[in-house]
Amino acid sequence: MFIDTSVPGAPGGEPNWPFCRSCKQEILVGQRSRTIDFSSPNPALKKLGGTYHETCAEPVMRVKRSYEMLRMRRPGA
Ligand SMILES: [Zn+2]
Repeated sequence: MFIDTSVPGAPGGEPNWPFCRSCKQEILVGQRSRTIDFSSPNPALKKLGGTYHETCAEPVMRVKRSYEMLRMRRPGA
């Protein structure tokens, strides 16, 4: 497996290189990313939380928004 060790800003090989949760590709330096945090007791939704490319985050943001709207209507859901 090819590992690029010449990434600027990652001395010593940063093991927690961000991977997009949607497309599973690395989020490279200079690419816009978004971290989505689901404050939900639902583990299926919580699993959606993480870091995404900004474009990949859009559908997840829609899920999050509709979920939060549901929550507002049904507190405790
Ligand atoms: Zn992505």
